[in-house]
Amino acid sequence: ALFCRHRRRTSCMPAWVIDQYGPNGVLRFTDEIPVPAINFASEVMIKVCAASLNPLDISMRGGYGAKLLKLRRDPMSVMDSDSEFPLILGRDVSGVVVDCGSGVTHFAPGDEVWAAVPPWKQGSLAEFVTLTEYEVSHKPKLLSHTEAASIPYVAATALSALVNAGGLCRDNCSNKRVLITGGSGGVGTFSIQLLKAWGAHVTVTCSHNAEGLVRGLGADEVVDYMAGDVAAQLDMMEKFDVILDNVGGETEQWALSLLKPWSGAKYVTLVTPFLLNTDSMGLLDGIVRSGFTLHNKAIQNIISNGVFYRWGFYAPDGPALDEISKLVDAGKILPVVEAQFPFTQVPQAFQKLEQGHARGKTVVRVA
Ligand code: NDP
Repeated sequence: ALFCRHRRRTSCMPAWVIDQYGPNGVLRFTDEIPVPAINFASEVMIKVCAASLNPLDISMRGGYGAKLLKLRRDPMSVMDSDSEFPLILGRDVSGVVVDCGSGVTHFAPGDEVWAAVPPWKQGSLAEFVTLTEYEVSHKPKLLSHTEAASIPYVAATALSALVNAGGLCRDNCSNKRVLITGGSGGVGTFSIQLLKAWGAHVTVTCSHNAEGLVRGLGADEVVDYMAGDVAAQLDMMEKFDVILDNVGGETEQWALSLLKPWSGAKYVTLVTPFLLNTDSMGLLDGIVRSGFTLHNKAIQNIISNGVFYRWGFYAPDGPALDEISKLVDAGKILPVVEAQFPFTQVPQAFQKLEQGHARGKTVVRVA
């Protein structure tokens, strides 16, 4: 901050930061964060117009994933021990390119773009964010920045989970039955629309008051998980080719038996113990333990049920967002913005998210 005060005003920017991990009170507004300069030829600097929040922001505020993310930020440990602070949260951005590295070929200043900011990079709850060209995509023309900011992180996660782990794509979904648990949240509301655009049959679990929302987005069958035994209700249906689990916990105990056996069917969960393990056991032990857990569950399920058990993870992918842009501009995917907050009310936006029961996304208007 001192460094900034002595420099031209324009080299600092406003941002919401945390200086330690903890509850909502650790969020601090400052206008003395150095503007994230372009350090590599492939980088793009974006002026943030809107950002959105994900459950990961709440977890990261509390220190979740800190050990592994720190290693990813600083693999050679060249920085000092508390170097991640001040840390900027916010994983989605919609904004305008203001500067490009000399090797950037797809973007120019003035371009309207959207992106999912990897958790190991400084986030989007700031005036500017700097990303690698590969992580950025041209924003859909039909959407406002507020609407566009609601999509990238859940889209990148859903694509990674459904395509890489679930084996689905635009061309092989027409005869597929997919179950999405937790269909009313950020990942769920996006995934329903993507799978319907790809021609799949989509069944969703959600609570009763979200049925209208998920049906409006195209869900074919909706099961109210609060009305009795959700596993028994789903068990009466035809079996599934792919399950995308956004809920985790006990779901794993009953969901795998809902898959078609010995036909390549896959259960993909987004709720994994991976970062919790590295936080609690240290990096090496955490990674080894996670590897064992995943391996054992995968082996057990292929042997006893004839189905694949997989973990899904967010992965940065600008070109994949280009494809989503086309689906949005074709009217096949709509943004689902549940709540909007001005930049002055970032703590209130976190509070909203922390209350749970999301119905789509919470967006912060930054500029
Ligand atoms: P959200 O908070 O946006 O949505 C969760 C939704 O699930 C809410 O609508 C909630 O509504 C609903 N829900 C809660 N309990 C149940 C239940 N038992 N059955 C059915 N629905 C339920 O989260 P996201 O969609 O953004 O993310 C989903 C999960 O995936 C989170 O746990 C997140 O941490 C994880 N994730 C993991 C990633 C990875 O890289 N592995 C990346 C992104 C997300 P209600 O409570 O009213 O029913």
